[in-house]
Amino acid sequence: MFKVLRVDHIGIAVKDLAQAKKFYTEMLGMEAMGEEEVAEQKVKVCFIPCGDSEVELLESTSPDGPIAKYIEKNGEGIQHMALRVDNIEAALADLKEKGVRLIDEKPRYGAGGASIAFVHPKATGGILLELSQRK
Ligand code: ZN
Repeated sequence: MFKVLRVDHIGIAVKDLAQAKKFYTEMLGMEAMGEEEVAEQKVKVCFIPCGDSEVELLESTSPDGPIAKYIEKNGEGIQHMALRVDNIEAALADLKEKGVRLIDEKPRYGAGGASIAFVHPKATGGILLELSQRK
């Protein structure tokens, strides 16, 4: 069994992380966390906490990375929503059993040391859904 706890973060694909971060920090007065590069996903990310949730800014570090491809196709904007779950292994097993189309059948490393896995937009009504379990 697993439980969805809350919206963990909204992932936003941007061309220029530093510039995008400025909007949230300087215009909205929010406080950004440090940046982290996730080599496996070819992205540089920055989390900006907002109450119980966070905004995740993602800049591609390679022209063939998933974020670069997303921007090429859709332009900058919301790329995924992440829901925090209490047990990602159980969530994936349960969804698989229910026939839900998954991108990741096993959790992988996410920024900040989270365990993450993506659910296909065709299964969710059109959005890329990330499941995230934090330590
Ligand atoms: Zn994310």
